[in-house]
Order: sequence, then C-alpha cells, then structure tokens
Amino acid sequence: ILPPFDYEPRPYNGMSADEIFQKRKSFLGPSLFHYYQKPLNIVEGKMQYLFDDSGRRYLDAFAGIVTVSCGHCHPDIVNAVVEQTKLLQHTTTIYLHHAIVEFAEALASKMPGNLKVVYFVNSGTEANELAMMMARLYSGNLSMIALRNAYHGGSAGTIGLTALNTWKYPLPQGEIHHVVNPDPYRGVFGSDAALYAKELQDHIDYGTPGKIAGFIAETIQGVGGAVELAPGYLKLVYDIVRKAGGVCIADEVQSGFGRTGSHYWGFETQGVIPDIVTMAKGIGNGLPLGAVVTTPEIAQVMAQKIQFNTFGGNPVCSAGGLAVLKVLDKEKRQIHCADVGSHLIERLRSLQKNHEIIGDVRGQGLMVGIELVTDREKKTPAKVETGVLFEKLKDLGVLVGKGGLHGNVFRIKPPMCFTKADADFLVDALDYAISGM
Ligand code: PMP
Repeated sequence: ILPPFDYEPRPYNGMSADEIFQKRKSFLGPSLFHYYQKPLNIVEGKMQYLFDDSGRRYLDAFAGIVTVSCGHCHPDIVNAVVEQTKLLQHTTTIYLHHAIVEFAEALASKMPGNLKVVYFVNSGTEANELAMMMARLYSGNLSMIALRNAYHGGSAGTIGLTALNTWKYPLPQGEIHHVVNPDPYRGVFGSDAALYAKELQDHIDYGTPGKIAGFIAETIQGVGGAVELAPGYLKLVYDIVRKAGGVCIADEVQSGFGRTGSHYWGFETQGVIPDIVTMAKGIGNGLPLGAVVTTPEIAQVMAQKIQFNTFGGNPVCSAGGLAVLKVLDKEKRQIHCADVGSHLIERLRSLQKNHEIIGDVRGQGLMVGIELVTDREKKTPAKVETGVLFEKLKDLGVLVGKGGLHGNVFRIKPPMCFTKADADFLVDALDYAISGM
C-alpha cells in the first residue's frame, strides 16, 4: 500500500515543527498525555483527512476524539457558523435568541419518551456534572453508582465517576460506588448480565442506605476501550436503580448521533429509556458544546435555584449544532455508519485470524475497538506492541485512537463520512504494520 501523502510543506508562520514542539513544551504545560512520540502539527482538516505542516495527509480514524462527527470543516457547518457569527456572536441565556430555541427543539425531537427539556453546557464533563446534580436533587439521595472502566469527565465532581486510575487525581470521591464492569471480553461474569446486575444490587444493599441518587454509564465505553456492555444489562440495572429511588443517566458523549449505526442513541441498543441523557463531542462537530436532556419532572427541581452557564447555548455553537443535526439526517449518516461499520468489523475479524496479537474486535457502527494482546488465552495486554503499531500506523498515514486501562486498545471512531475504501485502507495498513513487527 502507498501512503497518501502530498509532501507539500506548509510551515506555520515559517516555524519548523521542532520550534513548535519546543514552544508547546514551554507554554502548554507538562502532561503524561503525549499521543505520539513527537506530536503532529496539524494545519488543516478536510472531511475525513488531516494535513500536517510537512504536507502529509492522514486518514483520521479518531475524529479529534470522536468529536468531528460530520467531517472536518464540513461546508454546511462552516456556513452556519459563519452566518451566525456575522449576526450575533454571544448573548447569555438571560435573553433568548432564535438559534438556541431552534436547536433545543431539534435535539428534543431526536429523543425518545419524555426526554424533552434541554440544558446547554460546553463539554461532556460539565454535562455529567449537571446530570449528577440533577440526580441528587431529584432523588433526595447522595449515592451515585458508576461502572469500573468508566470515563465521565475530569472535574472535581466527575473525576469521582471516572474509574480509570490513569485519569484520576487524588480528590474526594463524593459517595460514588463503582460496580463490576459488564465487559463481555474481560469481565469476571463474561456476558452474563444477570450476575453483573446482582453485583450492583449488592452494592446498594451493603454499601448505601438502600436509597441511591442515580446510576450513570456510557452505553459503549469510549476511553475504556470501545467496550460494549453485556446484552440486557441496562434493562436489569435500570429496574434495580429505579426501585432504589435513583435516576438512570446515559452518557452519550461518544456513542450518540447515529454513530452506532443500529440506533441514533447507544442506549437504544439495550432497549432502555434513561431519565437523563448527557452529550457533547459529536454534537458540535468540534465546537465547544454539550447538553443534558431530561424529563420535565426532573427539570422541575432545577427551578429551586438559578441554573446558569455563561457560554451554554451560545448562538454560534447552537447554529453549528443545529447544522450538525441537519447534516446527519441529510447525508443519512446513521445508515452509512451501520454499512461501513459492519464492513470494517468483518474485515478486522478476518485479519484477526491471521494475527495472534489481535485479541478482540468489537463495537457497533463506527465505534470500534481492536484489543491487542501478547497471549490470546491469558489476554495479556500488548502494551509496548500497541505503542509501536500506533506509531507505524501514523507513518503509513492512518491516525487511530488508543484506549483501555493499559492503553492496548485501538479505537476506530472516525468522522461519519468515512467510507468502505477508507476502512480497507486502514485494515491494509494495520495488516502491513503487524506483518512487519
Ligand atoms: N463522557 C465521556 C463518555 C467521554 O468520553 C468524555 C471525554 N472523553 C467525557 C464524558 C468528558 O467530555 P469533555 O472532555 O468534553 O469534558
């Protein structure tokens, strides 16, 4: 296979990649989170492609962490944002503007059941923070339940919900219980949803006053490595949670907007309707936008105080978000995700037959995980090998994500305009990279 590189250097302001790297080190702070050995300096994005300062073109199979849903600089979204920017850039929710109202109505129309009231925020973290507050106020209880392997945010509150030690800081956890993860590949009870649900019931019976505020779960875990929940799990658990006085929160920050192909929302795959749904990332195609959607009954508790967010529902972000919803419908992206996703998974599963290192291929639509192991029986995480392959894929022109507690899962979550030819290119590149190890 030939990498699709243009090789037309386009240095930013005449700066070399090394100079930019040095500036990053000086001004952007230290972090463990260096994705590539040397960070890519991206200068342009066009639909499913990114271009760096050396003129290289990359197939973007990670979409800025599952965020660029429609494609980089999708023209309809750019137009909507530009037009709104010329008209009105900002006002707060103390006034109304047509963009926020139109967007809220369009979003509510995408929700099942009585999920009709929308709160806008700026990120997934803020959405989950607000959802947790609603659950506690509405139920009158304190205890929250989340899954081990969950990622729900990095703020002082949501870091308690997040379970992966790599992301956690030593902060007060705030009465949060983490239950055994219903992971069909690694979970102690395999795919037996009833046993996982029983374990959750035990937490309520033996670790709380018997009454809880709520339960939160990603309907396919993202940062944790594209982990699908054991079939039937959410149905059993939602019943248990509601009997214990709690509300059910679905974190759709990664799995919403048709990405899973079979349904518009990830929770629909499990046949449940949550009481609160949180979303961000793909909702704005890259604009800083998040939302919490709930029922009028739960929303009522927020009337006891002022609920206010300066940028939440900003006109420009609202116009962009509305354009996202329209593009996803117009371009029939949900059907497309189902079609391309099943092709990708099929090709990856046949690749798995040739390469022992591929322990598991899982996911739905264009939310796919490839778990790499050094021993298939023992499922030993292939930490070092994943890092090597990750760099090799980049050199071949393919950007994927990494995830899981040990960082040994490739996450394939591209912009939803990703085609079958792109999927083929990715699988061929992976085959080539593994074969050369
Ligand atoms: N929930 C999930 C499922 C996420 O994947 C993330 C981000 N990775 C968040 C919440 C937090 O979103 P943000 O980074 O926008 O605060």
